[in-house]
Amino acid sequence: MNKTGKILLTKTYVKNIQEIAPEIFTLSFPRTGDFRPGQMLAVALNIDEAPRLYSIASGNKEKDYRILFNIQSEGFLTPRLSDLKVGNRLFVSKPFGSFYGTNKADYWIAAGTGIAPFISMMESGLGDNKTLIHGGRALESFYFADKFKSVLNNNYIQCSSITKAEGIYSGRLTEYLNITENLALDRNYYICGSSQLIIDVRDILIRRGVPYNQIIAEIYF
Ligand SMILES: Cc1cc2nc3c(=O)[nH]c(=O)nc-3n(C[C@H](O)[C@H](O)[C@H](O)COP(=O)(O)OP(=O)(O)OC[C@H]3O[C@@H](n4cnc5c(N)ncnc54)[C@H](O)[C@@H]3O)c2cc1C
Repeated sequence: MNKTGKILLTKTYVKNIQEIAPEIFTLSFPRTGDFRPGQMLAVALNIDEAPRLYSIASGNKEKDYRILFNIQSEGFLTPRLSDLKVGNRLFVSKPFGSFYGTNKADYWIAAGTGIAPFISMMESGLGDNKTLIHGGRALESFYFADKFKSVLNNNYIQCSSITKAEGIYSGRLTEYLNITENLALDRNYYICGSSQLIIDVRDILIRRGVPYNQIIAEIYF
């Protein structure tokens, strides 16, 4: 960021782009420096346009940055991002933000692409003692599920209101939080997703007795 608060962007190029589920993409480009898992990048396709923000979704020992995004059909950036090909140009900021992963036995709660910072935390070696509650629609909405399963085992809880499958809680993640008996009151709760998700989850956690200062949120607005 410069003195006026404007985010500084530098030119880079696409190393990899993949559609991992319908209208959901991972996009990788060369890493330029260190970051703390949970931080984000500003991304644009031209130097003079307003960038959009994306959580880094790769580990802090990996060679490249990766982001995870979904196409917003009328959006300014994501339809064009999804058309990028390997070698195409893009502009990216340095990592910033303070939604940091910790070594503690935190809860991670996310819906949809809100899983991105937790992918970074998990891929950076912070997953072992965590409990992840992920809300998604279809089975394919549980991005990086195999990796989360292998690291978190039974502490990886998938919630879907429309998909019935073994091992998946049948209902929204907010319903799961309302009914589960195993909600520790002495742990931190990291939430990532839309403002509505964060408000809904915050209300449930507070009602269930989690102190407000143990709720930490990253809002995708
Ligand atoms: C801290 C942070 C981290 C984020 N991390 C991620 C991430 O990891 N992955 C991710 O996918 N997203 C993330 N986001 C959201 C991301 O920054 C973008 O907002 C998102 O990708 C949409 O960008 P866009 O330019 O395609 O859409 P935008 O142009 O910003 O439009 C967003 C929506 O608003 C609607 N809209 C636009 N203009 C109007 C209008 N005039 N009237 C009514 N509706 C309108 C569009 O139809 C679209 O659905 C993050 C946001 C924040 C704040």
